[in-house]
Amino acid sequence: MDTLTYLKKKSAEIRLNLLEMIYQAKSGHTGGALSSVDILTVLYYAVMNITPDNPKNPSRDRFVMSKGHSVEGVYNILADKGFFDKSELRNFSKFKSRLIGHPSVKVPGIELNTGALGHGLSCSVGMALAAKKYVKEVRVYCLMGDGEQAEGSVWEAGMAASNYKLDNLTAVIDRNYLQISGNTEDVMRLDSLTDKWKAFGWEVMEVDGHNIEQLLEVLEKPRIPDKPTILIAKTTKGKGVTYMEDMAKWHHGVPTEEQYKQAVDEIKKYIRELDDHE
Ligand SMILES: [Mg+2]
Repeated sequence: MDTLTYLKKKSAEIRLNLLEMIYQAKSGHTGGALSSVDILTVLYYAVMNITPDNPKNPSRDRFVMSKGHSVEGVYNILADKGFFDKSELRNFSKFKSRLIGHPSVKVPGIELNTGALGHGLSCSVGMALAAKKYVKEVRVYCLMGDGEQAEGSVWEAGMAASNYKLDNLTAVIDRNYLQISGNTEDVMRLDSLTDKWKAFGWEVMEVDGHNIEQLLEVLEKPRIPDKPTILIAKTTKGKGVTYMEDMAKWHHGVPTEEQYKQAVDEIKKYIRELDDHE
C-alpha cells in the first residue's frame, strides 16, 4: 500500500473508532473531532518523531491539542500507536477514567492539559523556545480551532513566536468556519486570518485540511529560517458523515443508534472504495 492510501485509510479508521467511542460514551465533540482527523493522521503517522517505546524522549516532537475539546481523534490515534491499550477507549468520559473529555497529561502521549481555549499556542511557544535552547532537533506542533482565534492570548503567543524567531514551531488552524454558537464570521469575524497571521510575522500557508497529499507536502516542507509557520487548514465540521457536515449542532452532538449505523456505513463504504482502487 502506498503512503497516501495508507494515510487515507488510517484516517477513515480513526473516524470509525472515534465515532464508536463517542456513541458508546454518549458524549463527545463529534463535529470538531471529525474535522481535525486528517490533520492529526498526517502529523502522527507521517510527520512527527514520536514513539510509544520512549514517550518521554527529550528529542521527541511535541504536539499540543489546543482545541482540547476535540480530543477524541487524539485518544484513538495514541491507542492505535500503542501509547495505551485500546480497551481503555471504552472508558472514555466515564467516572474515574483518565480519558476525560479534554486532554490530560495522565494519558501517555499527551503533552499538555488543554481545553481552556487560547492557551495551547502560548505553551507551544514555551516548548519551542526551550527546544531552541536545549534540544535542537525538536519540532513543536499546535492545533487550534478557528473559534479559538477570538482568544486574545492566541495573538500574544503569535507575537512572541515571531519575536523569538521560532522556526521550529508549526501551528495549524482547523478552519471549519463553525464554533459552538454558530458561524465564526457571525460570532467574531476572523477573516482574513491569513492577513492577520502574516502581519504577526508568520509564514502562512492555506491548505485543504482534508487533502492528505497536500497536508503531507506542506507539513514536510523545509521551514523558513527564523519564522514560525501556520497552516490555515480549510475543513468541514463533521467531515466524513454527510448529515453531520457543516452543522454547528454537531459540535457536541451524539448520534442515535440509527444515525450511528448510517455514519459507520458511509465510512466503511469509503474504505471499500479505497481498497478497490488498490
Ligand atoms: Mg471551528
